[in-house]
Amino acid sequence: MSLTSSTGQAAAESQTFHGSSLELKNLTMAYGDIEVLRNVSLTVAPGTTTCIIGPSGSGKSTLLRGVNRLHEPKSGDVLLAGESALEVKPDILRSRIGMVFQHFNLFPDHTALDNVALALWSVKGMPKAEARERARQRLAEVGLAERADHRPRDLSGGQQQRVAIARALAMEPEVMLFDEATSALDPELVKGVLNLMAGLGKRGMTMLVVTHEMGFARKVADQVVFMDEGEVVEAGTPGELFDNPKSERLQRFLSEVL
Ligand code: ADP
Ligand code: MG
Repeated sequence: MSLTSSTGQAAAESQTFHGSSLELKNLTMAYGDIEVLRNVSLTVAPGTTTCIIGPSGSGKSTLLRGVNRLHEPKSGDVLLAGESALEVKPDILRSRIGMVFQHFNLFPDHTALDNVALALWSVKGMPKAEARERARQRLAEVGLAERADHRPRDLSGGQQQRVAIARALAMEPEVMLFDEATSALDPELVKGVLNLMAGLGKRGMTMLVVTHEMGFARKVADQVVFMDEGEVVEAGTPGELFDNPKSERLQRFLSEVL
Protein backbone atom coordinates (compact mmCIF):
# COMPACT_ATOMS: atom_id res chain seq x y z
CA MET A 1 0.00 0.00 0.00
CA SER A 2 1.44 3.36 -0.91
CA LEU A 3 0.33 6.88 -0.20
CA THR A 4 1.02 9.64 -2.65
CA SER A 5 -0.09 12.34 -0.25
CA SER A 6 -0.43 12.19 3.47
CA THR A 7 -3.76 13.70 4.41
CA GLY A 8 -7.40 14.05 3.57
CA GLN A 9 -9.71 12.85 0.85
CA ALA A 10 -7.17 13.57 -1.87
CA ALA A 11 -4.98 10.86 -0.41
CA ALA A 12 -7.91 8.49 -0.25
CA GLU A 13 -8.60 9.03 -3.94
CA SER A 14 -5.06 8.39 -5.07
CA GLN A 15 -4.08 5.65 -2.65
CA THR A 16 -3.57 2.29 -4.28
CA PHE A 17 -3.41 -1.15 -2.75
CA HIS A 18 -1.55 -4.25 -3.80
CA GLY A 19 -4.01 -6.97 -2.90
CA SER A 20 -2.82 -10.57 -2.86
CA SER A 21 -4.56 -13.59 -4.29
CA LEU A 22 -6.72 -15.66 -1.98
CA GLU A 23 -7.55 -19.27 -2.70
CA LEU A 24 -9.72 -21.71 -0.77
CA LYS A 25 -9.07 -25.34 -1.55
CA ASN A 26 -11.62 -27.94 -0.46
CA LEU A 27 -12.18 -26.08 2.77
CA THR A 28 -14.20 -28.13 5.23
CA MET A 29 -15.17 -26.74 8.60
CA ALA A 30 -17.06 -28.12 11.57
CA TYR A 31 -18.33 -27.19 15.00
CA GLY A 32 -17.74 -30.32 17.04
CA ASP A 33 -18.98 -33.21 14.92
CA ILE A 34 -21.22 -31.08 12.76
CA GLU A 35 -19.77 -30.12 9.39
CA VAL A 36 -21.13 -26.75 8.31
CA LEU A 37 -18.83 -26.16 5.34
CA ARG A 38 -17.98 -28.90 2.87
CA ASN A 39 -15.24 -28.83 0.27
CA VAL A 40 -15.51 -25.18 -0.57
CA SER A 41 -13.10 -24.08 -3.27
CA LEU A 42 -12.88 -20.59 -4.67
CA THR A 43 -10.29 -18.20 -5.99
CA VAL A 44 -10.20 -14.46 -5.51
CA ALA A 45 -7.72 -12.97 -7.97
CA PRO A 46 -5.48 -10.13 -6.74
CA GLY A 47 -7.28 -6.80 -6.65
CA THR A 48 -10.72 -8.28 -7.35
CA THR A 49 -13.91 -8.40 -5.33
CA THR A 50 -15.87 -11.57 -4.66
CA CYS A 51 -19.28 -11.32 -3.01
CA ILE A 52 -20.73 -14.29 -1.15
CA ILE A 53 -24.50 -14.48 -0.98
CA GLY A 54 -26.79 -17.11 0.48
CA PRO A 55 -29.41 -17.79 3.12
CA SER A 56 -28.81 -17.39 6.82
CA GLY A 57 -27.02 -20.41 8.26
CA SER A 58 -25.44 -21.44 4.95
CA GLY A 59 -21.91 -21.09 6.33
CA LYS A 60 -20.82 -17.69 5.02
CA SER A 61 -19.46 -16.39 8.33
CA THR A 62 -17.84 -19.72 9.07
CA LEU A 63 -16.03 -19.53 5.73
CA LEU A 64 -14.61 -16.10 6.56
CA ARG A 65 -13.64 -17.30 10.02
CA GLY A 66 -11.73 -20.16 8.39
CA VAL A 67 -9.82 -17.81 6.12
CA ASN A 68 -8.26 -15.89 8.99
CA ARG A 69 -8.37 -18.83 11.40
CA LEU A 70 -10.73 -17.41 13.95
CA HIS A 71 -12.01 -20.98 13.65
CA GLU A 72 -9.59 -23.67 12.50
CA PRO A 73 -10.56 -25.54 9.34
CA LYS A 74 -11.14 -29.28 9.66
CA SER A 75 -9.48 -29.96 6.32
CA GLY A 76 -8.51 -28.26 3.11
CA ASP A 77 -6.32 -25.23 2.73
CA VAL A 78 -6.35 -21.46 2.37
CA LEU A 79 -3.65 -19.90 0.22
CA LEU A 80 -2.73 -16.27 0.71
CA ALA A 81 -0.48 -15.04 -2.10
CA GLY A 82 0.12 -18.72 -2.81
CA GLU A 83 1.28 -19.49 0.73
CA SER A 84 -0.69 -21.77 3.07
CA ALA A 85 -2.43 -19.63 5.67
CA LEU A 86 -2.37 -22.65 7.95
CA GLU A 87 1.38 -22.23 8.17
CA VAL A 88 1.28 -18.55 9.09
CA LYS A 89 1.01 -17.62 12.78
CA PRO A 90 -2.60 -16.55 13.45
CA ASP A 91 -1.72 -13.04 14.65
CA ILE A 92 0.52 -12.45 11.62
CA LEU A 93 -2.21 -13.85 9.38
CA ARG A 94 -4.76 -11.49 10.89
CA SER A 95 -2.52 -8.53 10.24
CA ARG A 96 -2.29 -9.61 6.58
CA ILE A 97 -6.04 -10.22 6.26
CA GLY A 98 -8.26 -7.42 7.55
CA MET A 99 -11.72 -8.29 8.79
CA VAL A 100 -14.76 -6.10 9.28
CA PHE A 101 -17.78 -7.45 11.12
CA GLN A 102 -21.45 -6.59 11.28
CA HIS A 103 -20.98 -5.34 14.83
CA PHE A 104 -18.02 -3.07 14.69
CA ASN A 105 -16.21 -4.52 17.72
CA LEU A 106 -14.55 -1.23 18.59
CA PHE A 107 -13.06 -0.68 22.02
CA PRO A 108 -15.69 1.49 23.72
CA ASP A 109 -13.29 3.30 26.05
CA HIS A 110 -10.82 4.31 23.35
CA THR A 111 -11.09 7.18 20.91
CA ALA A 112 -11.53 6.53 17.20
CA LEU A 113 -7.85 7.37 16.78
CA ASP A 114 -6.67 4.89 19.39
CA ASN A 115 -9.01 2.20 18.06
CA VAL A 116 -7.14 2.50 14.76
CA ALA A 117 -3.68 2.94 16.32
CA LEU A 118 -3.87 0.21 18.97
CA ALA A 119 -2.94 -2.82 16.88
CA LEU A 120 -0.17 -0.84 15.19
CA TRP A 121 1.73 -0.54 18.42
CA SER A 122 0.54 -3.68 20.18
CA VAL A 123 0.82 -6.12 17.23
CA LYS A 124 3.20 -4.38 14.83
CA GLY A 125 5.35 -2.79 17.55
CA MET A 126 5.19 0.63 15.93
CA PRO A 127 6.15 3.58 18.19
CA LYS A 128 2.99 5.23 19.55
CA ALA A 129 3.51 8.61 17.89
CA GLU A 130 4.02 6.99 14.50
CA ALA A 131 1.02 4.70 15.04
CA ARG A 132 -1.17 7.67 15.87
CA GLU A 133 0.06 9.54 12.80
CA ARG A 134 -0.76 6.61 10.56
CA ALA A 135 -4.13 6.20 12.29
CA ARG A 136 -4.88 9.85 11.63
CA GLN A 137 -4.22 9.33 7.92
CA ARG A 138 -6.44 6.27 7.75
CA LEU A 139 -9.27 8.09 9.52
CA ALA A 140 -8.92 10.97 7.06
CA GLU A 141 -9.19 8.50 4.20
CA VAL A 142 -12.53 7.20 5.46
CA GLY A 143 -13.78 10.75 5.95
CA LEU A 144 -13.41 10.90 9.72
CA ALA A 145 -10.52 13.32 10.26
CA GLU A 146 -12.77 15.50 12.39
CA ARG A 147 -13.91 12.61 14.59
CA ALA A 148 -10.52 11.25 15.65
CA ASP A 149 -11.01 12.14 19.30
CA HIS A 150 -14.57 10.82 19.62
CA ARG A 151 -15.39 7.62 21.43
CA PRO A 152 -17.52 5.02 19.62
CA ARG A 153 -20.68 5.95 21.55
CA ASP A 154 -20.42 9.49 20.17
CA LEU A 155 -20.29 8.28 16.57
CA SER A 156 -23.10 7.06 14.29
CA GLY A 157 -23.17 3.41 13.29
CA GLY A 158 -21.85 4.34 9.86
CA GLN A 159 -19.00 6.31 11.39
CA GLN A 160 -18.18 3.43 13.74
CA GLN A 161 -18.02 1.06 10.80
CA ARG A 162 -15.69 3.49 9.00
CA VAL A 163 -13.42 3.44 12.06
CA ALA A 164 -13.44 -0.36 11.93
CA ILE A 165 -12.51 -0.24 8.24
CA ALA A 166 -9.76 2.32 8.92
CA ARG A 167 -8.47 0.08 11.71
CA ALA A 168 -8.25 -2.89 9.34
CA LEU A 169 -6.58 -0.79 6.60
CA ALA A 170 -4.01 0.60 9.02
CA MET A 171 -2.43 -2.84 9.18
CA GLU A 172 -1.82 -2.68 5.42
CA PRO A 173 -3.66 -5.92 4.72
CA GLU A 174 -3.34 -7.89 1.51
CA VAL A 175 -6.97 -8.99 1.63
CA MET A 176 -10.09 -7.57 3.28
CA LEU A 177 -12.97 -9.71 4.54
CA PHE A 178 -16.36 -8.16 5.23
CA ASP A 179 -19.09 -10.03 7.10
CA GLU A 180 -22.41 -8.25 6.56
CA ALA A 181 -20.66 -4.97 7.29
CA THR A 182 -23.79 -2.90 6.68
CA SER A 183 -26.46 -5.16 8.18
CA ALA A 184 -26.54 -3.40 11.55
CA LEU A 185 -26.68 0.11 10.09
CA ASP A 186 -29.65 2.40 9.79
CA PRO A 187 -30.75 2.42 6.13
CA GLU A 188 -29.56 5.97 5.45
CA LEU A 189 -26.03 5.07 6.55
CA VAL A 190 -25.64 1.95 4.41
CA LYS A 191 -24.79 3.65 1.15
CA GLY A 192 -21.81 5.60 2.47
CA VAL A 193 -20.17 2.46 3.84
CA LEU A 194 -20.88 0.51 0.63
CA ASN A 195 -19.34 3.32 -1.40
CA LEU A 196 -16.27 3.24 0.79
CA MET A 197 -15.99 -0.53 0.27
CA ALA A 198 -16.46 -0.20 -3.48
CA GLY A 199 -13.68 2.41 -3.51
CA LEU A 200 -11.26 0.01 -1.84
CA GLY A 201 -11.99 -2.58 -4.50
CA LYS A 202 -11.46 -0.05 -7.29
CA ARG A 203 -8.08 0.87 -5.87
CA GLY A 204 -6.78 -2.67 -5.97
CA MET A 205 -7.70 -4.28 -2.66
CA THR A 206 -8.57 -7.99 -2.78
CA MET A 207 -11.97 -8.28 -1.17
CA LEU A 208 -14.15 -11.17 0.00
CA VAL A 209 -17.49 -9.69 0.96
CA VAL A 210 -20.42 -11.51 2.58
CA THR A 211 -23.43 -9.32 1.90
CA HIS A 212 -27.20 -9.14 1.69
CA GLU A 213 -26.89 -6.07 -0.52
CA MET A 214 -27.69 -7.56 -3.90
CA GLY A 215 -27.33 -4.18 -5.63
CA PHE A 216 -23.77 -3.92 -4.32
CA ALA A 217 -22.95 -7.49 -5.37
CA ARG A 218 -24.31 -6.89 -8.85
CA LYS A 219 -22.51 -3.60 -9.35
CA VAL A 220 -19.19 -4.09 -7.57
CA ALA A 221 -18.38 -7.81 -7.60
CA ASP A 222 -16.10 -9.35 -10.18
CA GLN A 223 -17.37 -12.73 -8.99
CA VAL A 224 -20.47 -13.74 -7.04
CA VAL A 225 -20.62 -16.98 -5.06
CA PHE A 226 -23.94 -18.44 -3.94
CA MET A 227 -23.74 -20.70 -0.89
CA ASP A 228 -26.40 -22.93 0.57
CA GLU A 229 -26.13 -25.54 3.31
CA GLY A 230 -22.36 -25.32 3.56
CA GLU A 231 -21.65 -25.67 -0.13
CA VAL A 232 -20.91 -23.44 -3.09
CA VAL A 233 -23.92 -23.98 -5.32
CA GLU A 234 -23.04 -21.50 -8.07
CA ALA A 235 -20.23 -19.07 -8.81
CA GLY A 236 -19.81 -16.69 -11.70
CA THR A 237 -20.13 -13.12 -12.85
CA PRO A 238 -22.95 -11.00 -11.40
CA GLY A 239 -24.75 -11.27 -14.77
CA GLU A 240 -24.52 -15.06 -14.74
CA LEU A 241 -25.90 -15.43 -11.23
CA PHE A 242 -28.47 -12.66 -11.12
CA ASP A 243 -29.76 -12.78 -14.69
CA ASN A 244 -29.39 -16.45 -15.43
CA PRO A 245 -29.42 -18.50 -12.21
CA LYS A 246 -29.10 -22.17 -13.09
CA SER A 247 -29.97 -23.94 -9.87
CA GLU A 248 -33.41 -24.09 -8.39
CA ARG A 249 -31.90 -23.11 -5.01
CA LEU A 250 -30.45 -19.86 -6.33
CA GLN A 251 -33.64 -19.08 -8.25
CA ARG A 252 -35.62 -19.50 -5.04
CA PHE A 253 -33.16 -17.44 -2.99
CA LEU A 254 -33.24 -14.58 -5.49
CA SER A 255 -37.02 -14.63 -5.64
CA GLU A 256 -37.03 -14.15 -1.87
CA VAL A 257 -34.45 -11.36 -1.61
CA LEU A 258 -34.87 -9.32 -4.77
P1 ADP B 1 -24.20 -17.67 7.86
O1 ADP B 1 -23.10 -16.71 8.16
O2 ADP B 1 -24.30 -18.03 6.40
O3 ADP B 1 -25.51 -17.24 8.41
P2 ADP B 1 -22.84 -19.38 9.77
O4 ADP B 1 -21.49 -19.63 9.21
O5 ADP B 1 -22.97 -18.38 10.85
O6 ADP B 1 -23.85 -19.06 8.56
O7 ADP B 1 -23.42 -20.73 10.31
C1 ADP B 1 -23.36 -21.96 9.57
C2 ADP B 1 -23.90 -23.07 10.45
O8 ADP B 1 -23.03 -23.26 11.56
C3 ADP B 1 -25.27 -22.79 11.05
O9 ADP B 1 -25.99 -23.99 11.08
C4 ADP B 1 -24.96 -22.31 12.44
O10 ADP B 1 -26.02 -22.62 13.31
C5 ADP B 1 -23.71 -23.11 12.78
N1 ADP B 1 -22.82 -22.39 13.72
C6 ADP B 1 -22.32 -21.15 13.56
N2 ADP B 1 -21.51 -20.80 14.56
C7 ADP B 1 -21.51 -21.87 15.41
C8 ADP B 1 -20.87 -22.13 16.66
N3 ADP B 1 -20.05 -21.23 17.22
N4 ADP B 1 -21.11 -23.33 17.24
C9 ADP B 1 -21.90 -24.23 16.65
N5 ADP B 1 -22.54 -24.05 15.49
C10 ADP B 1 -22.35 -22.89 14.87
MG1 MG C 1 -23.17 -14.85 9.04
